[in-house]
Amino acid sequence: MTARIGVLALQGDVREHLRMLEDCGVQATKVRTPADLAAVSGLVIPGGESTTIGMLIRRNDLEEPLRAALRGGLPVLGTCAGMILLAREVLDGRPDQVSLAAIDMTVRRNAFGRQVDSFETAVPVSALAGPPVTAVFIRAPWVERVGPDVEVLATVETQDDPDTIVAVRQGKAVATSFHPEMTDDRRFHTLLVSMVLEDV
Ligand code: GLN
Repeated sequence: MTARIGVLALQGDVREHLRMLEDCGVQATKVRTPADLAAVSGLVIPGGESTTIGMLIRRNDLEEPLRAALRGGLPVLGTCAGMILLAREVLDGRPDQVSLAAIDMTVRRNAFGRQVDSFETAVPVSALAGPPVTAVFIRAPWVERVGPDVEVLATVETQDDPDTIVAVRQGKAVATSFHPEMTDDRRFHTLLVSMVLEDV
């Protein structure tokens, strides 16, 4: 049976992630309700606007089901706004910002925006075999603190820190500051599929 992997489809670049997952050969489906969530064995939380996605998570009664699923080890890939939603702590967020706390990290919203709004650069990613990924950053967050159980997968040099963290993994939760779904590089989505199918 093919795995069914969901994309949280409340706001943001949902279609690009669905296409990526389909290209990986799995059944890709939109998640908008707790019932949708219960029917998937992996999840993507897309880029978009974390405050808007968070508000819609609450409106759709998804906050507790998402927390419970993630605590239970549901494999998840969060990109950009998705990274913010997966963090335990958010800097420069709104006071009512939703934090699903799947990854023990502190992220700063719109962190690169203080330097340049959007840019693209080649980033080596330790967990991915092959060449560096082309990382597309759009009003992206970065990670300012990680807990002891968090593996740093990628860093970039910024004016603030030569090793600014932009990709992490804790257990079955992977998060990137950038947007792999906006390139042709499926390696992050393949990693999610492997976490689902092969329990890696
Ligand atoms: N700046 C957005 C936020 O705070 C994230 C941007 C993105 O996902 N491209 O949610």
